[in-house]
Amino acid sequence: MKQKLMKQILILCVPVVACCAALSSMGAPAGVRCKYCGAEARDARTLLSSPCPKHPSGFAKGKHALFEGEAREVYTCVYCGQTAKSVRALVSSPCPKHPDGFAKGKHSAYEGTDKSSYTCKYCGQTATSIRALVTSPCPKHPNGFAKGRHSPAR
Ligand SMILES: [Zn+2]
Ligand SMILES: [Zn+2]
Ligand SMILES: [Zn+2]
Repeated sequence: MKQKLMKQILILCVPVVACCAALSSMGAPAGVRCKYCGAEARDARTLLSSPCPKHPSGFAKGKHALFEGEAREVYTCVYCGQTAKSVRALVSSPCPKHPDGFAKGKHSAYEGTDKSSYTCKYCGQTATSIRALVTSPCPKHPNGFAKGRHSPAR
């Protein structure tokens, strides 16, 4: 008789606990995101331990990588200046100015802070927007003179 009662209490309790766990994970803001695919996770350890479907080396050829920028309203591509409301949206489409060639890779979200002037990390050229900076070739690009475009420092 006593055992039967315990069993009933257990049956009653389990769904409540499961429900609470689901609610708390839904309500919490996502802490971190992957810079390749935009996947969000509560913490970096969780994110970095699972394979990324959009890893640069190929589907699940590596783990998610931490997007080091802060959460923001608009994310800007460091190659072409294209903007999107989320990292996921930005990195889901091919970039016309990808360093490997036209649409040879996806947009990549800028991880630095918003600035009134953006500086090229290779040559020091400045511009008032990322889009303006990355339109012209960089004389000190690591691949050689004008072998690539300016790239904004963080
Ligand atoms: Zn990823
Ligand atoms: Zn782009
Ligand atoms: Zn430059």
